[in-house]
Amino acid sequence: MPVTEDQLAEIEAQRAETAPTRRVVARGMEERLYTLHPVLDHGFVRVIDYMGDDAAICQAARVSYGRGTKAVSNDEGLIRYLMRHWHSTPFEMCEVKFHVKLPVFVARQWIRHRTANVNEYSARYSILDREFYIPAPDALAAQSTVNHQGRGEVLEGEEAARVLEILKADSARSYDNYEAMLSQDGQRGLARELARMNLPANIYTQWYWKCDLHNLFHFLRLRADSHAQYEIRVYAQTMCEIVADWVPLAFKAFEDYRMGGVTLSAPAMDCVRRMLKGEPVTQENSGMSKGEWREFEAAIQSN
Ligand SMILES: Cc1cc2nc3c(=O)[nH]c(=O)nc-3n(C[C@H](O)[C@H](O)[C@H](O)COP(=O)(O)OP(=O)(O)OC[C@H]3O[C@@H](n4cnc5c(N)ncnc54)[C@H](O)[C@@H]3O)c2cc1C
Repeated sequence: MPVTEDQLAEIEAQRAETAPTRRVVARGMEERLYTLHPVLDHGFVRVIDYMGDDAAICQAARVSYGRGTKAVSNDEGLIRYLMRHWHSTPFEMCEVKFHVKLPVFVARQWIRHRTANVNEYSARYSILDREFYIPAPDALAAQSTVNHQGRGEVLEGEEAARVLEILKADSARSYDNYEAMLSQDGQRGLARELARMNLPANIYTQWYWKCDLHNLFHFLRLRADSHAQYEIRVYAQTMCEIVADWVPLAFKAFEDYRMGGVTLSAPAMDCVRRMLKGEPVTQENSGMSKGEWREFEAAIQSN
């Protein structure tokens, strides 16, 4: 599975080929098409195909006959209106197909997003490569002391070296045993579908992953967020850069209303109104739980 010179040449050959088309072409995405965008130590994201652009979202919203005569500023206003008001179906008219190479434990989180179409590399059919995710030193961190579902301080010195050694040794030993169990080299051994079962979750897999823009935004909002695990977040961040080039107006609206925006509950809105009137509002008289209040304060804090 490592990307070979031949595969890189195939990608370059595909990128060199162009054809006249009547279909919508997004310039920014054309530049990205097929290119490998490296993620983690052996992973990548690349765009295999796409459909639509910013104008296609507006066309769908207006159910228009052609590209229309509307100015870009009109399109921008419409896209921002659609995003603000959760009018999602026009965004579903754009599609994108990614080729992703990722560790299995990241794939397990990713596959929870059910609104995509997926086809994964078959480890029943093919022998997996000796490729494992080994975190970079700054991604090796201890359990967080404040967040049960997260990491805290970065490991240093001997402790970092100790865990790295365990990760590398386990990966190597598991793969040696995988090879030792496979039906190959004259040994009866095990079928590929069985021999793989002892492989660790940091081994790499690959898939084609196709999604419409509305559901992709949902994925990115959850996985490019600081609460998402670092190892999936770096994929989502790379995809954000790609989407920003593909549909810049829609991506800006997404950044403003989803990534950078917050939803305030009715009690929270009531607190804001009271604060604007100059009333002293505290958690105790807010009608919110301690957790909600903490999040509310974080959302309205000026620094
Ligand atoms: C920070 C973080 C921590 C998480 N921790 C955990 C955890 O500890 N344990 C765990 O199990 N999961 C965890 N998850 C996964 C999470 O619960 C969701 O399964 C995952 O984010 C996919 O979200 P989704 O269902 O909205 O996405 P999608 O499956 O892409 O669905 C998109 C939307 O379509 C609709 N939809 C799709 N399928 C259905 C359906 N069958 N019925 C009704 N509506 C549907 C829903 O509106 C849904 O929001 C975590 C996710 C994040 C981001």
